[in-house]
Amino acid sequence: MSAAFPPLRDELRGIEPYGAPQLDPALVPVQLNVNENPYGPSPETAADIAHAVGEAATTLNRYPDREFVELRSALAAYLNGSGGSGITPEMVWAANGSNEVMLQLLQAFGGPGRVALSFAPTYSMYPEYARDALTEWHAGRRAEDFSLDLDAARELVLDKRPVVVLLPSPNNPTGTALPPEAVTMLCEAAASYEPGGLVVVDEAYGEFRRAGTPSALELLPQHRNLVVTRTMSKAFALAGARVGYLAADPAVCDAIRVVRLPYHLSAVTQATALAALRHAPELLGRVDDLRVERDATVEWLRREGFEVADSDANFVLFGRFAERHAVWRGLVDRGVLIRETGPDGWLRVSIGTAEEMTAFKDALLETVRQTS
Ligand code: PMP
Repeated sequence: MSAAFPPLRDELRGIEPYGAPQLDPALVPVQLNVNENPYGPSPETAADIAHAVGEAATTLNRYPDREFVELRSALAAYLNGSGGSGITPEMVWAANGSNEVMLQLLQAFGGPGRVALSFAPTYSMYPEYARDALTEWHAGRRAEDFSLDLDAARELVLDKRPVVVLLPSPNNPTGTALPPEAVTMLCEAAASYEPGGLVVVDEAYGEFRRAGTPSALELLPQHRNLVVTRTMSKAFALAGARVGYLAADPAVCDAIRVVRLPYHLSAVTQATALAALRHAPELLGRVDDLRVERDATVEWLRREGFEVADSDANFVLFGRFAERHAVWRGLVDRGVLIRETGPDGWLRVSIGTAEEMTAFKDALLETVRQTS
Protein backbone atom coordinates (compact mmCIF):
# COMPACT_ATOMS: atom_id res chain seq x y z
CA MET A 1 0.00 0.00 0.00
CA SER A 2 1.37 3.41 -0.88
CA ALA A 3 1.51 6.01 1.87
CA ALA A 4 1.88 8.79 -0.65
CA PHE A 5 -0.90 11.28 -1.07
CA PRO A 6 -0.30 12.92 -4.43
CA PRO A 7 0.41 16.64 -4.37
CA LEU A 8 -1.92 18.95 -6.21
CA ARG A 9 -1.04 19.81 -9.79
CA ASP A 10 1.89 22.28 -9.69
CA GLU A 11 -0.16 25.22 -10.91
CA LEU A 12 -2.83 24.68 -8.23
CA ARG A 13 -0.60 24.55 -5.18
CA GLY A 14 -1.16 27.32 -2.66
CA ILE A 15 -4.17 28.71 -4.54
CA GLU A 16 -7.18 29.73 -2.47
CA PRO A 17 -10.52 28.48 -3.85
CA TYR A 18 -12.40 31.28 -5.60
CA GLY A 19 -15.41 32.72 -3.82
CA ALA A 20 -16.80 35.76 -2.08
CA PRO A 21 -17.30 35.44 1.68
CA GLN A 22 -20.73 33.93 2.46
CA LEU A 23 -21.66 35.44 5.82
CA ASP A 24 -24.67 34.44 7.89
CA PRO A 25 -27.59 36.73 6.92
CA ALA A 26 -28.72 36.61 10.54
CA LEU A 27 -25.49 38.45 11.43
CA VAL A 28 -25.00 40.51 8.26
CA PRO A 29 -28.51 41.05 6.93
CA VAL A 30 -27.83 43.37 3.98
CA GLN A 31 -26.07 41.22 1.38
CA LEU A 32 -24.88 43.26 -1.58
CA ASN A 33 -21.79 41.32 -2.62
CA VAL A 34 -22.52 38.86 -5.44
CA ASN A 35 -24.74 40.87 -7.80
CA GLU A 36 -27.88 38.85 -7.13
CA ASN A 37 -31.36 40.16 -7.84
CA PRO A 38 -32.76 41.14 -4.42
CA TYR A 39 -36.32 40.32 -5.52
CA GLY A 40 -37.20 36.62 -5.28
CA PRO A 41 -40.08 34.86 -7.02
CA SER A 42 -43.67 35.52 -5.94
CA PRO A 43 -45.38 32.71 -3.96
CA GLU A 44 -47.33 31.80 -7.16
CA THR A 45 -44.18 31.48 -9.24
CA ALA A 46 -42.39 29.58 -6.48
CA ALA A 47 -45.37 27.21 -6.29
CA ASP A 48 -45.32 26.67 -10.06
CA ILE A 49 -41.60 25.90 -9.97
CA ALA A 50 -42.17 23.53 -7.05
CA HIS A 51 -44.96 21.80 -8.98
CA ALA A 52 -42.70 21.35 -12.04
CA VAL A 53 -39.93 19.97 -9.83
CA GLY A 54 -42.48 17.66 -8.18
CA GLU A 55 -43.42 16.24 -11.58
CA ALA A 56 -39.76 15.76 -12.48
CA ALA A 57 -39.28 13.98 -9.15
CA THR A 58 -41.59 11.15 -10.24
CA THR A 59 -39.02 10.05 -12.85
CA LEU A 60 -35.80 10.79 -10.98
CA ASN A 61 -34.80 7.13 -11.37
CA ARG A 62 -34.10 8.00 -15.02
CA TYR A 63 -31.33 10.19 -16.42
CA PRO A 64 -32.54 13.55 -17.75
CA ASP A 65 -32.73 14.51 -21.43
CA ARG A 66 -29.02 14.81 -22.23
CA GLU A 67 -29.68 17.29 -25.03
CA PHE A 68 -32.28 19.29 -22.98
CA VAL A 69 -34.22 19.94 -26.17
CA GLU A 70 -37.22 21.56 -24.51
CA LEU A 71 -35.05 23.93 -22.49
CA ARG A 72 -32.98 24.89 -25.54
CA SER A 73 -36.19 25.72 -27.40
CA ALA A 74 -37.52 27.80 -24.52
CA LEU A 75 -34.21 29.69 -24.19
CA ALA A 76 -34.13 30.33 -27.95
CA ALA A 77 -37.66 31.77 -27.78
CA TYR A 78 -36.65 33.93 -24.81
CA LEU A 79 -33.57 35.24 -26.62
CA ASN A 80 -35.58 36.05 -29.74
CA GLY A 81 -37.71 38.30 -27.57
CA SER A 82 -34.68 39.83 -25.83
CA GLY A 83 -32.45 41.32 -28.52
CA GLY A 84 -31.92 38.24 -30.71
CA SER A 85 -33.62 37.16 -33.90
CA GLY A 86 -33.58 33.91 -35.83
CA ILE A 87 -31.99 32.06 -32.90
CA THR A 88 -32.84 28.36 -33.19
CA PRO A 89 -32.56 25.68 -30.47
CA GLU A 90 -29.44 24.27 -32.22
CA MET A 91 -27.76 27.64 -31.60
CA VAL A 92 -28.36 27.46 -27.84
CA TRP A 93 -26.36 25.61 -25.20
CA ALA A 94 -26.86 25.64 -21.43
CA ALA A 95 -25.02 24.45 -18.34
CA ASN A 96 -24.86 24.92 -14.56
CA GLY A 97 -24.28 28.66 -14.64
CA SER A 98 -22.55 30.63 -17.36
CA ASN A 99 -19.31 29.84 -15.51
CA GLU A 100 -19.70 26.25 -16.64
CA VAL A 101 -20.66 27.32 -20.17
CA MET A 102 -17.45 29.35 -20.50
CA LEU A 103 -15.31 26.62 -18.94
CA GLN A 104 -16.77 24.19 -21.50
CA LEU A 105 -15.90 26.64 -24.29
CA LEU A 106 -12.29 26.62 -23.15
CA GLN A 107 -12.28 22.85 -22.72
CA ALA A 108 -13.45 22.52 -26.30
CA PHE A 109 -11.42 25.26 -27.97
CA GLY A 110 -8.48 25.96 -25.61
CA GLY A 111 -5.73 23.59 -24.58
CA PRO A 112 -1.94 23.42 -24.61
CA GLY A 113 -0.32 25.83 -27.05
CA ARG A 114 -3.48 27.93 -27.31
CA VAL A 115 -4.21 31.34 -25.80
CA ALA A 116 -7.30 32.86 -24.14
CA LEU A 117 -7.40 36.62 -23.69
CA SER A 118 -9.35 39.36 -21.95
CA PHE A 119 -8.79 42.92 -20.73
CA ALA A 120 -8.23 43.68 -17.03
CA PRO A 121 -9.68 44.66 -14.69
CA THR A 122 -12.27 42.03 -15.46
CA TYR A 123 -14.07 38.98 -14.08
CA SER A 124 -11.62 37.06 -11.95
CA MET A 125 -12.90 33.62 -12.97
CA TYR A 126 -11.64 33.99 -16.56
CA PRO A 127 -8.01 33.11 -15.80
CA GLU A 128 -9.29 30.17 -13.75
CA TYR A 129 -11.18 28.71 -16.72
CA ALA A 130 -8.01 29.07 -18.77
CA ARG A 131 -5.88 27.42 -16.07
CA ASP A 132 -8.32 24.53 -15.68
CA ALA A 133 -8.43 23.99 -19.45
CA LEU A 134 -4.60 24.08 -19.65
CA THR A 135 -4.81 27.18 -21.83
CA GLU A 136 -2.33 30.05 -21.76
CA TRP A 137 -3.88 33.18 -20.29
CA HIS A 138 -3.21 36.71 -21.40
CA ALA A 139 -4.80 39.93 -20.10
CA GLY A 140 -4.51 43.30 -21.85
CA ARG A 141 -5.33 46.48 -19.96
CA ARG A 142 -8.43 48.63 -20.01
CA ALA A 143 -8.13 52.43 -20.20
CA GLU A 144 -8.22 54.61 -17.03
CA ASP A 145 -12.03 54.91 -17.31
CA PHE A 146 -12.24 51.09 -17.77
CA SER A 147 -13.31 51.35 -21.42
CA LEU A 148 -11.47 49.44 -24.16
CA ASP A 149 -8.97 51.25 -26.35
CA LEU A 150 -10.21 49.62 -29.54
CA ASP A 151 -7.06 50.03 -31.61
CA ALA A 152 -4.86 48.68 -28.83
CA ALA A 153 -7.30 45.80 -28.23
CA ARG A 154 -7.27 44.91 -31.93
CA GLU A 155 -3.46 45.02 -32.02
CA LEU A 156 -3.23 42.74 -29.00
CA VAL A 157 -5.65 40.22 -30.51
CA LEU A 158 -3.68 40.20 -33.78
CA ASP A 159 -0.45 39.78 -31.84
CA LYS A 160 -1.54 37.01 -29.40
CA ARG A 161 -3.90 35.19 -31.81
CA PRO A 162 -6.17 33.89 -29.04
CA VAL A 163 -8.58 31.03 -29.70
CA VAL A 164 -10.99 32.64 -27.24
CA VAL A 165 -11.44 36.34 -26.39
CA LEU A 166 -13.59 36.88 -23.30
CA LEU A 167 -15.37 40.22 -23.39
CA PRO A 168 -17.89 40.89 -20.64
CA SER A 169 -20.49 43.51 -21.45
CA PRO A 170 -21.24 45.01 -19.00
CA ASN A 171 -17.86 44.22 -17.47
CA ASN A 172 -17.50 42.90 -13.92
CA PRO A 173 -16.39 44.57 -11.63
CA THR A 174 -16.46 47.93 -13.44
CA GLY A 175 -19.97 47.92 -15.00
CA THR A 176 -18.61 49.13 -18.35
CA ALA A 177 -20.65 48.19 -21.44
CA LEU A 178 -19.02 47.50 -24.78
CA PRO A 179 -20.12 49.42 -27.89
CA PRO A 180 -21.22 47.19 -30.80
CA GLU A 181 -18.37 48.50 -32.97
CA ALA A 182 -15.90 46.96 -30.49
CA VAL A 183 -17.54 43.55 -30.90
CA THR A 184 -17.53 43.86 -34.68
CA MET A 185 -13.90 44.98 -34.80
CA LEU A 186 -12.70 42.17 -32.54
CA CYS A 187 -14.76 39.52 -34.35
CA GLU A 188 -13.16 40.62 -37.62
CA ALA A 189 -9.69 40.66 -36.06
CA ALA A 190 -10.17 37.18 -34.55
CA ALA A 191 -11.38 35.81 -37.91
CA SER A 192 -8.29 37.12 -39.72
CA TYR A 193 -5.68 34.60 -38.52
CA GLU A 194 -5.26 30.83 -38.41
CA PRO A 195 -6.89 28.94 -36.70
CA GLY A 196 -9.22 31.85 -35.87
CA GLY A 197 -10.63 32.93 -32.52
CA LEU A 198 -14.04 32.90 -30.88
CA VAL A 199 -15.18 36.23 -29.44
CA VAL A 200 -17.27 35.48 -26.36
CA VAL A 201 -19.38 38.43 -25.28
CA ASP A 202 -20.34 37.61 -21.70
CA GLU A 203 -23.71 39.30 -21.16
CA ALA A 204 -24.26 38.00 -17.62
CA TYR A 205 -25.52 41.51 -16.81
CA GLY A 206 -26.83 42.25 -20.32
CA GLU A 207 -30.43 42.87 -19.28
CA PHE A 208 -29.33 45.77 -17.05
CA ARG A 209 -27.62 47.75 -19.83
CA ARG A 210 -29.05 51.18 -20.49
CA ALA A 211 -31.29 51.90 -23.47
CA GLY A 212 -29.30 52.58 -26.60
CA THR A 213 -26.65 49.90 -26.02
CA PRO A 214 -27.74 46.96 -28.18
CA SER A 215 -27.11 43.34 -27.19
CA ALA A 216 -24.35 41.50 -29.05
CA LEU A 217 -27.11 39.01 -29.95
CA GLU A 218 -27.98 41.41 -32.78
CA LEU A 219 -24.55 40.83 -34.32
CA LEU A 220 -24.77 37.02 -34.38
CA PRO A 221 -25.97 36.84 -38.00
CA GLN A 222 -22.89 38.78 -39.15
CA HIS A 223 -20.13 36.90 -37.31
CA ARG A 224 -19.74 33.12 -37.28
CA ASN A 225 -17.09 33.41 -34.55
CA LEU A 226 -19.30 35.37 -32.13
CA VAL A 227 -20.63 33.66 -28.99
CA VAL A 228 -22.98 35.46 -26.61
CA THR A 229 -23.31 34.05 -23.09
CA ARG A 230 -26.13 34.87 -20.71
CA THR A 231 -27.24 33.71 -17.28
CA MET A 232 -30.44 33.25 -15.30
CA SER A 233 -28.49 34.21 -12.13
CA LYS A 234 -28.72 38.00 -12.29
CA ALA A 235 -31.63 39.90 -13.89
CA PHE A 236 -33.59 36.65 -14.07
CA ALA A 237 -33.47 36.26 -10.27
CA LEU A 238 -32.59 32.56 -10.37
CA ALA A 239 -29.02 32.35 -9.05
CA GLY A 240 -29.87 29.38 -6.84
CA ALA A 241 -30.89 27.23 -9.80
CA ARG A 242 -27.50 27.51 -11.56
CA VAL A 243 -28.47 28.00 -15.20
CA GLY A 244 -26.35 29.82 -17.78
CA TYR A 245 -26.48 29.55 -21.56
CA LEU A 246 -25.07 30.77 -24.83
CA ALA A 247 -26.16 31.54 -28.37
CA ALA A 248 -23.73 30.86 -31.21
CA ASP A 249 -23.27 29.00 -34.45
CA PRO A 250 -24.62 25.42 -34.07
CA ALA A 251 -21.07 24.13 -34.68
CA VAL A 252 -20.00 25.73 -31.38
CA CYS A 253 -22.75 23.85 -29.50
CA ASP A 254 -21.78 20.62 -31.22
CA ALA A 255 -18.16 21.12 -30.19
CA ILE A 256 -19.18 21.59 -26.55
CA ARG A 257 -21.20 18.37 -26.68
CA VAL A 258 -17.89 16.55 -27.06
CA VAL A 259 -16.52 17.85 -23.72
CA ARG A 260 -19.61 18.17 -21.56
CA LEU A 261 -20.14 15.53 -18.93
CA PRO A 262 -23.08 13.26 -19.70
CA TYR A 263 -26.41 14.52 -18.33
CA HIS A 264 -24.75 17.63 -16.89
CA LEU A 265 -28.09 19.46 -16.52
CA SER A 266 -30.20 17.58 -13.97
CA ALA A 267 -33.90 16.94 -14.48
CA VAL A 268 -34.54 19.20 -11.49
CA THR A 269 -32.52 22.01 -13.06
CA GLN A 270 -34.26 21.64 -16.42
CA ALA A 271 -37.73 21.62 -14.82
CA THR A 272 -36.85 24.65 -12.70
CA ALA A 273 -35.49 26.65 -15.64
CA LEU A 274 -38.46 25.81 -17.86
CA ALA A 275 -40.95 26.82 -15.18
CA ALA A 276 -39.00 30.03 -14.49
CA LEU A 277 -38.97 30.91 -18.20
CA ARG A 278 -42.76 30.67 -18.21
CA HIS A 279 -42.70 33.41 -15.56
CA ALA A 280 -40.05 35.54 -17.27
CA PRO A 281 -42.05 38.79 -17.19
CA GLU A 282 -42.45 38.58 -13.43
CA LEU A 283 -38.90 37.47 -12.66
CA LEU A 284 -37.46 40.23 -14.85
CA GLY A 285 -40.10 42.68 -13.66
CA ARG A 286 -37.82 44.58 -11.27
CA VAL A 287 -34.98 45.20 -13.72
CA ASP A 288 -36.18 48.74 -14.44
CA ASP A 289 -36.42 49.50 -10.72
CA LEU A 290 -32.90 48.18 -10.22
CA ARG A 291 -31.60 50.36 -13.05
CA VAL A 292 -33.20 53.43 -11.47
CA GLU A 293 -31.74 52.50 -8.08
CA ARG A 294 -28.31 51.99 -9.70
CA ASP A 295 -28.34 55.43 -11.31
CA ALA A 296 -29.48 56.98 -8.03
CA THR A 297 -26.67 55.18 -6.20
CA VAL A 298 -24.07 56.45 -8.68
CA GLU A 299 -25.37 60.02 -8.30
CA TRP A 300 -25.42 59.80 -4.53
CA LEU A 301 -21.88 58.42 -4.33
CA ARG A 302 -20.62 61.19 -6.61
CA ARG A 303 -22.42 63.84 -4.57
CA GLU A 304 -20.71 62.48 -1.48
CA GLY A 305 -17.36 62.92 -3.20
CA PHE A 306 -16.55 59.31 -4.14
CA GLU A 307 -15.06 58.30 -7.44
CA VAL A 308 -17.53 56.08 -9.32
CA ALA A 309 -17.25 54.05 -12.53
CA ASP A 310 -20.16 54.49 -14.96
CA SER A 311 -22.29 51.34 -14.71
CA ASP A 312 -24.60 49.50 -17.11
CA ALA A 313 -24.94 46.61 -14.65
CA ASN A 314 -26.65 45.93 -11.30
CA PHE A 315 -23.59 46.95 -9.31
CA VAL A 316 -21.36 49.96 -8.90
CA LEU A 317 -17.58 50.20 -8.44
CA PHE A 318 -16.59 53.10 -6.25
CA GLY A 319 -13.60 54.41 -4.29
CA ARG A 320 -10.96 55.22 -3.85
CA PHE A 321 -9.89 54.25 -0.38
CA ALA A 322 -6.39 54.19 1.05
CA GLU A 323 -7.50 51.24 3.20
CA ARG A 324 -10.33 49.57 1.36
CA HIS A 325 -10.29 46.53 3.62
CA ALA A 326 -10.99 48.74 6.64
CA VAL A 327 -13.97 50.29 4.84
CA TRP A 328 -15.26 46.85 3.81
CA ARG A 329 -14.89 45.67 7.42
CA GLY A 330 -16.63 48.78 8.77
CA LEU A 331 -19.63 48.02 6.55
CA VAL A 332 -19.72 44.37 7.65
CA ASP A 333 -19.68 45.51 11.28
CA ARG A 334 -22.76 47.59 10.46
CA GLY A 335 -24.57 44.65 8.87
CA VAL A 336 -23.80 45.40 5.22
CA LEU A 337 -21.78 43.00 3.07
CA ILE A 338 -20.24 44.40 -0.12
CA ARG A 339 -17.34 43.11 -2.23
CA GLU A 340 -13.68 43.83 -1.90
CA THR A 341 -12.72 43.41 -5.54
CA GLY A 342 -11.38 45.30 -8.53
CA PRO A 343 -8.31 47.49 -8.72
CA ASP A 344 -6.66 48.59 -5.49
CA GLY A 345 -8.64 51.16 -3.56
CA TRP A 346 -12.04 50.32 -5.09
CA LEU A 347 -15.05 48.49 -3.68
CA ARG A 348 -18.11 47.08 -5.43
CA VAL A 349 -21.70 47.24 -4.20
CA SER A 350 -24.56 45.27 -5.77
CA ILE A 351 -27.86 47.09 -6.20
CA GLY A 352 -30.43 45.90 -3.69
CA THR A 353 -33.85 47.14 -2.63
CA ALA A 354 -34.32 50.82 -1.73
CA GLU A 355 -34.19 49.87 1.98
CA GLU A 356 -30.96 47.92 1.49
CA MET A 357 -29.39 50.84 -0.37
CA THR A 358 -30.33 53.19 2.46
CA ALA A 359 -28.65 50.83 4.92
CA PHE A 360 -25.58 50.75 2.66
CA LYS A 361 -25.39 54.54 2.40
CA ASP A 362 -25.78 55.06 6.15
CA ALA A 363 -23.17 52.41 6.91
CA LEU A 364 -20.74 53.83 4.36
CA LEU A 365 -20.95 57.40 5.66
CA GLU A 366 -20.54 56.25 9.25
CA THR A 367 -17.59 54.05 8.36
CA VAL A 368 -15.82 56.70 6.33
CA ARG A 369 -16.28 59.26 9.11
CA GLN A 370 -14.79 56.85 11.58
CA THR A 371 -11.89 55.60 9.45
CA SER A 372 -10.74 58.99 8.10
N1 PMP B 1 -19.85 36.40 -16.00
C1 PMP B 1 -19.72 37.43 -15.17
C2 PMP B 1 -19.15 38.71 -15.72
C3 PMP B 1 -20.07 37.31 -13.83
O1 PMP B 1 -19.91 38.35 -13.01
C4 PMP B 1 -20.60 36.09 -13.37
C5 PMP B 1 -21.02 35.86 -11.92
N2 PMP B 1 -20.56 36.66 -10.98
C6 PMP B 1 -20.71 35.04 -14.27
C7 PMP B 1 -20.34 35.22 -15.58
C8 PMP B 1 -21.16 33.67 -13.88
O2 PMP B 1 -22.41 33.60 -13.33
P1 PMP B 1 -23.26 32.26 -13.31
O3 PMP B 1 -22.31 31.11 -13.32
O4 PMP B 1 -24.07 32.36 -12.09
O5 PMP B 1 -24.07 32.29 -14.58
